Amino acid sequence: MAKNPKMQTRLSNSLTVSQNKMILSSSSSVAKGIAIGKAFVFSREHIGSETKTEEDALSMFRSSLLNSHKEIEDLAKNNSIMEAQLAFLEDDYLKDTVEEFILDGKTASEALDLALKKIEEELLEIDDEYLRSRIQDVKDIFFRLKKNLGDSSQGLFQGLEKGDVLVARTLFPSELSQIDLTLLSGIVTGDGGASSHISIMAAGYSLPLVVALGDKVNEIKPKDKLIVDASMAKVYLSPDVETLREYECLLKHSSCQDDIIEDSINLPNGEKVSVFANVASLDDVRQAMRNGADGIGIFRTEFLYLSSMQAPTEQEQFQIYRDAVLFSNGKPITFRTCDIGGDKQVPFLELKHEDNPFLGLRAIRMCLRLRPDILRTQLRALLRASAYGELRIMIPMISSLDEMVSVKNIFNECREELRSKGVSFAEHVPLGMMIETPASVFLISEFVKISDFFSIGTNDLTQYILAVDRANPDVAPLYKQTSEAVLSAVKMVIGVSRQNSVECGMCGELAADESMTEKLLRMGLGEFSVPVGMVQKIKHRIVDFTVNEKE
Ligand code: PEP
Ligand code: MG
Repeated sequence: MAKNPKMQTRLSNSLTVSQNKMILSSSSSVAKGIAIGKAFVFSREHIGSETKTEEDALSMFRSSLLNSHKEIEDLAKNNSIMEAQLAFLEDDYLKDTVEEFILDGKTASEALDLALKKIEEELLEIDDEYLRSRIQDVKDIFFRLKKNLGDSSQGLFQGLEKGDVLVARTLFPSELSQIDLTLLSGIVTGDGGASSHISIMAAGYSLPLVVALGDKVNEIKPKDKLIVDASMAKVYLSPDVETLREYECLLKHSSCQDDIIEDSINLPNGEKVSVFANVASLDDVRQAMRNGADGIGIFRTEFLYLSSMQAPTEQEQFQIYRDAVLFSNGKPITFRTCDIGGDKQVPFLELKHEDNPFLGLRAIRMCLRLRPDILRTQLRALLRASAYGELRIMIPMISSLDEMVSVKNIFNECREELRSKGVSFAEHVPLGMMIETPASVFLISEFVKISDFFSIGTNDLTQYILAVDRANPDVAPLYKQTSEAVLSAVKMVIGVSRQNSVECGMCGELAADESMTEKLLRMGLGEFSVPVGMVQKIKHRIVDFTVNEKE
C-alpha cells in the first residue's frame, strides 16, 4: 500500500496521459495500492487438465510434507503433543511408505489414504498401550498432509507464478480460496463489486484489486505486463518504460511499514480499544499475529467448505479450529459459523437455485431450516477446540429472536452430548451474533438479553439497509457504508450495547475505513476488526486520535 497517498494520487493522475498501450479504467477499486506483474489469465478450461504423472504426485506430496512440517513446527513450540507429531513426521518411515504407494501408480491423495491404513494396522498390532494410543495423532498428521496437498497451485491455477496479477472475467470465492494468495501481486476482474467476498479476501492480503472492468478485461492476454493502480481504479496494459519506472519507484517507497503497535490502545478516558483481524484460514491467523492484531474478530469458517469437495468432518474442523486457537497465542479468537449462500455457493450441498440468494436461505437460515446437522457438527468441533484457548462463537444473518433462541438450544444440546461422552471443552464459551440485518438493529434491546456479544457486519447491513446488492457493479456507486442511514444504525447498536454492558465490535469493512476511525471511536466502538493488512493502519489512526484528544 502506498505510504503517501497524496504523492500517489498526483503521480497516478499525471500517468494517464502518458503513451501506454492501453489504460483500462473502472468505477470500482477495492483493496488499494499498486501491483506490477505479468497477467495470469484465469480460465475454467483448466479444470480437469491437471496432469497426474508419478512425478506430479511425488512433488505434490513433498511440498505438502514441507508445508505440514512448517505448520507442526510452529505448533510444537509450546505443545508436547505436537512435538511428538513432529518427530513422527520427520521419521523417514512415513515418507518412504507414502512414496512407495506413489511409485506403485497411486495419486498423492490415494497414497496418503493407503499409507495411513497400513501404519494404523501396524500400530494396532503392537503390544504397547502408549503406541496404540498415538493413532489419533497419526490420523491428525495424515489429515494435515492431505489438506496441504490442495495448497499447491495445481489444477485451476496451473502455471501461476509468484508475483503474477490474476485476471478474470468472474472469480468466485471458492476458486480464490484454492490458492495461496501470497503468490499474487494483484487481481483484476471484469465483474464484482467493492464489497463482494473476493474483495474482502484481497483486502485481507493487501492485494491491490480493480473490479468491474467489464468487457475491457478481455483485452488482457496471458503474460501481458500490467500495472494495477487500485487507488485510481486503473490498469495499465503493456505500460511504456517511463510509466513503469515511475510506478516501480512508487512501489518501492510504499513498501516501508509503519512501526508495529503490538498492544491494544488506551484512550484518554481510560477505555481500551482493540484492533482484531478478519481471517479465513490458518495462514491468515499466523499473519494476523505477526501484524500485531489483538485477536481475531471474525474467522469466516465457510471457506473450509468452499475449498473442499465435501463437508469437512467434525474431526477435520476440530483440528483446524484448535490450530487457529493455538496460533492466536492466548489472544481471543471469534469463529463465525458457516455463512454459506449469497455469493458463496457450495456445490456439494446441492442447494436449490434461488432468484435472490442474498435474501434466501443463507447462513444460519440454511443451517436451521435445511441442514441442522452442519451446524451441530460445527458447534461440537468448536466446543472441543475451546479447551485450547479463548474462543468465541458468532452466528451470521440473525434476523429474529427465535433464530437465536434455536441456536442456543442446539448449542446447549451439543454441550450435553460432549459432556456425556467425557469430552473436554471450556466451561464458558461466549455465543454471540452478527448485527447485519436491519431486523437485528431494530431488535437490539431484546438481543442484548440473549446474546453474549455482537459484531456489526456493515458489509451486509449496508446492502440490506440501502437495498443495494453488494456484489453488483451496476449499483456500486449507491453502495456506501458511510451513508447516514447505516451510520445511525451503527450508532444505535453501539449505544444500546454499551448501556447493557454487552461487548460490541465491528467486523464489516467500515471498521477498516481510516477516514471513519475517529467517528466510530466517538460513537464508543471498542473493538475494530479489519483485514489483516489494515490492522496497523487502524491502530495508528487510533493512536493519532488519542494524541489529538490529549492536546
Ligand atoms: C459483514 O457482512 O459485514 C461481514 C463481516 O460478513 P461477510 O462480509 O462475510 O458477509
Ligand atoms: Mg455478512
